[in-house]
Amino acid sequence: MKKIQMVDLNGQYEEIKDEVNASIANVLETAAFVNGPEVHAFQKELEDYLGVKHVIPCANGTDALQIAMMGLGLKPGDEVITANFTFAATVEVIALLQLTPVLVDVDPNSFNIDPLALEKAITPKTKAIVPVHLFGQCANMEAVLDIAKRHNLYVIEDNAQAIGADYTFQNGKKQKAGTMGHVAATSFFPSKNLGCYGDGGAIFTNDDDLAHTLRGIVNHGMYERYHHDVVGVNSRLDSIQAAVLRSKLSRLDDYNARRREAARSYTEAFEGNKNIMVPKMANGCLEICENCDCHVFHQYTLRILNGQRDALVKHLGEKQIPCGVYYPIPLHKQKAYQDERYQEKDFPITNQLVKEVISLPMHTELDDEQITFITETVNQFVNKPLSS
Ligand SMILES: *Cc1c(COP(=O)(O)O)cnc(C)c1O
Repeated sequence: MKKIQMVDLNGQYEEIKDEVNASIANVLETAAFVNGPEVHAFQKELEDYLGVKHVIPCANGTDALQIAMMGLGLKPGDEVITANFTFAATVEVIALLQLTPVLVDVDPNSFNIDPLALEKAITPKTKAIVPVHLFGQCANMEAVLDIAKRHNLYVIEDNAQAIGADYTFQNGKKQKAGTMGHVAATSFFPSKNLGCYGDGGAIFTNDDDLAHTLRGIVNHGMYERYHHDVVGVNSRLDSIQAAVLRSKLSRLDDYNARRREAARSYTEAFEGNKNIMVPKMANGCLEICENCDCHVFHQYTLRILNGQRDALVKHLGEKQIPCGVYYPIPLHKQKAYQDERYQEKDFPITNQLVKEVISLPMHTELDDEQITFITETVNQFVNKPLSS
């Protein structure tokens, strides 16, 4: 059996090596290292793929979130609501801009922001909501957009983990993750579903004026050379990364299908195990359908319901099966983000999830032998009933 990896970037590279090497060599020949033709071509291709009017490439996903918030003109003291159960980058940029992060609990099935908790947290100071599309599946955007509209709030999608995912509204309309709010941020960190070979990120919006503002902010606040109209940042995607991303974007749907296929195999193997909760599909899907893109499985995350999660992590380590706990500590308990307004009773789900979740190896190169070894090892350890 091939050595199991959490993310197998080498195996994926082998398949596209000739194409990627040639396009990188081309960038080296032309020496257009920053904002070159590759960056513009990638930007256009991603706009077409997503069905969004503007993609603004930048240096990483954290910058993308920060620049999105700067572009909306949020002011110190404005409250921004986001999920307690997410990667720290989301709340970090809110705090950095001296906005006030307001953390709320999540849904126990989707792990995404709980619309009821969200609406309860709104105050007259609230200006924006950041739904995070965690682990590859969209937050309940129908509810989030409705709440935002009623309370006149901006919606900033953190789409670092769900690029390529579809969201289906109740009226049947489908939209890609990252195209539903006022603005969205994504990351091209190597392990993301669309990852480059270094750092990269992008901001998406359908708003022409906001896109213009954002393009200046990423470039030192310049709209005309050496005229600095606003305080900006320096945040660029380089041409070598754009060349890599073009090759991978043309394969993104296939990559996501391969992740979904691995997820189907995992779920089939775990379904009889009462101590394991497999990932639930939002959008009312009962199973991981072959042709539907509602979940792109950035992570395949189980809940271990019998208190054995930490023991399982240790056991998998002994069996050379990598795994991850995303995320082990709720943000409201992180030193940097403590706030007297937070009360434990407001976060029952987050507090439970941090004790139960475990993410299994998930990438485009998993084979049946590896999946069988992983699922058998997990099932044996988590007391699979003998009958199934
Ligand atoms: C990865 C990630 C980010 C940050 O992206 P970087 O490119 O690493 O800065 C932000 N939010 C979430 C949810 C992420 O998973």
